[in-house]
Amino acid sequence: MAKKGLTPMMQQYFEVRSKLQDDTLLLFRLGDFYEMFLEDAEEGSKILGITLTHRNGMLMAGIPFHAADNYINKALAVGKKVALCEQVGLPQAGKLVERKLTRILTPGTVLEGNQLQADHNHFLLALHYEKQTLNASWLDLSTGEFQLASDKNIENLLPILSSLQPQEIIISETLPDQIKKHKEKNCAISRIEEILQTAAVTELAEFHFDPQEGLKAVTNALGVLNLDGFGIKSDNPGLSTAGALIQYVTETLCQKPENLQKIIVYESSKKLLLDPATLRNLEIFKTSSGNRVGSLMDTINTTITAAGARLLEQYLSSPELDIKTINLRQQYVSDLYSQPVLSSKLQSSLTKINDIPRILSRLQNRVLRPRELGGIRNTLDQLPSIIEALAEFKQLQIASLSKNIHTLDDLREEMNRTVEENLPQTLQEGNLIQKGVDPELDKFKILSTDNKSWLADFEKQEQEKTGIRNLKVKYNGAFGYFIEVTKSYIHLVPEHYIRKRTMTNAERFQTDELKQKEKEILNAEENAFVLEEKIFREIVTKVLDKAPELRETADTLAKLDLFASWSSIARERGFCRPTINDGDTIDIKEGRHPVVEQSLKSGDIGLAGDHAFVPNDTYLSSHEEQIALLTGPNMAGKSTYIRQVALITLMAQIGSWVPAKSCTVGIVDRIFSRVGASDELARGNSTFMVEMNETANILNNGTEKSLIILDEIGRGTSTYDGLSIAWAVVEELHGSKKKGPKTLFATHYHELTALSDKLSRLNNYSVAVKEWNDDIIFVRQVIKGAADRSYGIQVARLAGIPQSVIVRAKEILENLENNDPKPKRKKNYKNPVKDPENEEPVEVQRDSIGQLELF
Ligand code: ADP
Repeated sequence: MAKKGLTPMMQQYFEVRSKLQDDTLLLFRLGDFYEMFLEDAEEGSKILGITLTHRNGMLMAGIPFHAADNYINKALAVGKKVALCEQVGLPQAGKLVERKLTRILTPGTVLEGNQLQADHNHFLLALHYEKQTLNASWLDLSTGEFQLASDKNIENLLPILSSLQPQEIIISETLPDQIKKHKEKNCAISRIEEILQTAAVTELAEFHFDPQEGLKAVTNALGVLNLDGFGIKSDNPGLSTAGALIQYVTETLCQKPENLQKIIVYESSKKLLLDPATLRNLEIFKTSSGNRVGSLMDTINTTITAAGARLLEQYLSSPELDIKTINLRQQYVSDLYSQPVLSSKLQSSLTKINDIPRILSRLQNRVLRPRELGGIRNTLDQLPSIIEALAEFKQLQIASLSKNIHTLDDLREEMNRTVEENLPQTLQEGNLIQKGVDPELDKFKILSTDNKSWLADFEKQEQEKTGIRNLKVKYNGAFGYFIEVTKSYIHLVPEHYIRKRTMTNAERFQTDELKQKEKEILNAEENAFVLEEKIFREIVTKVLDKAPELRETADTLAKLDLFASWSSIARERGFCRPTINDGDTIDIKEGRHPVVEQSLKSGDIGLAGDHAFVPNDTYLSSHEEQIALLTGPNMAGKSTYIRQVALITLMAQIGSWVPAKSCTVGIVDRIFSRVGASDELARGNSTFMVEMNETANILNNGTEKSLIILDEIGRGTSTYDGLSIAWAVVEELHGSKKKGPKTLFATHYHELTALSDKLSRLNNYSVAVKEWNDDIIFVRQVIKGAADRSYGIQVARLAGIPQSVIVRAKEILENLENNDPKPKRKKNYKNPVKDPENEEPVEVQRDSIGQLELF
């Protein structure tokens, strides 16, 4: 779109700008700068903190191209997209240099190392809801991992979608309305909203989600005729989102993605599912305050390589149901555990390898950083010693992994022979290829270095000829080579010197001889540069030809890293190999909470007197000891205990060893957790509603193979309501069948303990405390039987409530106990609480259970 009165360059600019959306900043390359114009300049200068200037009435703001990465990250961080328009031809005098849109960087499609977290996958997620089916597809462009899923039961997909922690989500423009509509009816699709809140969202028109177009886009990107080989039929509804992803990525890369090898169907029925609330409550990837430090992932991640850490994240995102798969992973860990010396030999080789999947993805998508090719060479150099170390494991299972490590000897030998040891960051810096690889390249290089020594001789010669002692031969980009003479010697300059420029203290000259030489030098340098780049690109092509083998190798190294890290943790922290079967029992001897135990060791948390973590046993079975009802004072360790059972089960089903003396886990299909109201308040949700939503989810989706942990359920409403709901939930979970979901129920409603008389598969447990004088000591031991007191006042004292308040509280308690109007059947528990409905302190006691039983 040519605009009148505009320079050709600005016409070029507007043509590119018109192709972009408003949410995109266009960085337009002008020599060594990226410039922004008009509105982009105005907005960009604010976001990036750079100066806004006016030139010929035009608003401009620029950043030096070599520092662009940092600025781009800043723009991405505030949710902007950044388009790069590069100079593609060499500048020629009097001609407009050719420019092209080369990339649009968006939060979910970045590739450069400093825009990615090394130990974290970087997912772009696409969501589409149609015919009461949720379709989803996700892609980590930086590694090439690509999956698709489709399910009528949205609850089945929520676990994986929230585990992905995507950086960007693309949705059809109709989805927000669909969510709004269903929210009123409280349908599951409305829970997608929670996921949308975690990432940058890009809305696309509905036609982008056409499944037939999707099939075409996906087959084209994978270079296949159909998707049968991946177990995907042409009418798979998930293709709507997979196709939208490919189209979006193609637009942002300005070409189709070249690093995709396969697409995997995510099948929720084959995975242990943890819904978003459970992921949050168990602090799998982040703590409740949103930090990664202190999460399970952080605590059990001792991998050495970034790919190893990402693999752990993936295993935690989709724990297994398949006993064979779990056993195989455990076996690898056992093998490494049994050979500590060999295992640490392997680990020390792994410290020298680089992030192959990401390097390859960048190279395949035209992000060429020469130094990264060195990363591939360094990794290949380590492979022989890794294979050797694996061979020493002899008959052990782990040795078999070496068949998936491709040493690519020829490629390694060629890279070592041809590319420079220390490679530069950018191609422009040159010095890529070693001497002796290509005679012609050597010739150009010698010519250019010879010329440089010619220049030194020439300088000396001219100094002698003219008698100007400080005569210098210099070079700069604008003038090329020139002779510089300071003003004090100007009278000695010979006549054949051609004056080029006058400076404050000096004059610059050229001679015919120097001009001629300059041509030769620049030619030799240019020729060397072009030839060197050509040879280098040939090697890149050879590397990319081996991409499948390199990826398989990298996947295997990531596994080795992860399994070796698990074996070290097992050794250092005293973990055991759990027995996995398809029974219905969880039997843990001396189990510990993996995170709390580590925090206690490092002295991060713990009350005075707490030293080491106190292990506890657990026995749950769907048909016998189905529900463990846990009572005990606040701070006794109830939450820690019930969470540790969930975490041990989860760890067992990703194939890891677990913090216990011994452990048997009958495969669990889902872990549900519902915890007390306080954290939801912080998240600004209607506490009670959220609590009940999640409880409904548990009751509707829990099976007899599920594990449920409930912590202080019912807290979000008045005492009687809460108690009644908790009561009814326990009854429902127990049910009238012979089996039910294994459940750990921690509660402050001591009344519930009476349920053990009525429900045969419910057992009471409590966390023991010792009384000493008027104080209590937490012993952290879970014992059979209900707690007899709540020790609220003693805990309040430990928490630092002033002594005067403690004394007064005791008086009130005594009064309440003595003025009890009703005779107690059993004097076992009293809990003065304020009923929010009538504002008077009321006493909840066993008698109320009698009434509840009537319901
Ligand atoms: P509750 O749920 O009963 O209020 P928590 O489970 O929150 O209690 O535990 C309170 C604190 O006690 C934890 O933060 C932890 O420091 C400590 N703790 C819990 N269980 C143990 C244990 N088994 N061994 C040692 N310390 C523990």
